[in-house]
Amino acid sequence: MTEIAPTRPFRTGLLRGLRGHCPNCDKGRLFSSYLKVTPTCEVCGHDLGAYKADDGPAYFTILLVGHLVVAPAFFFPFMWETSPWVIVPGALISLTTLILLLLPRIKGAFIGALWSIRRAPAQP
Ligand SMILES: [Zn+2]
Repeated sequence: MTEIAPTRPFRTGLLRGLRGHCPNCDKGRLFSSYLKVTPTCEVCGHDLGAYKADDGPAYFTILLVGHLVVAPAFFFPFMWETSPWVIVPGALISLTTLILLLLPRIKGAFIGALWSIRRAPAQP
């Protein structure tokens, strides 16, 4: 007889990961440092290291920042009227800050999404 696996809601995994919490229990920390995923959850013991995010979080971060911040910024006249000596350093500093703030959250959400679709490699 086949056992029915408990459900893992996509939104739950996404939100728990977004907050940097273990997607399985919402109590343990997902990261041990800035972007380093904790191998196993210290609360529930879930194998968090099995979820390989690879380049996915960086791709989604670039996608979000590029489409929601950089492209719309060119519609504001001050971008064309202000000296490049002001715009370029200001844009680099603000975009770098935004990307560094978003990247761990997006990586957490990405791992939460992987948890919900059970996208961890099979153990040998
Ligand atoms: Zn946990």
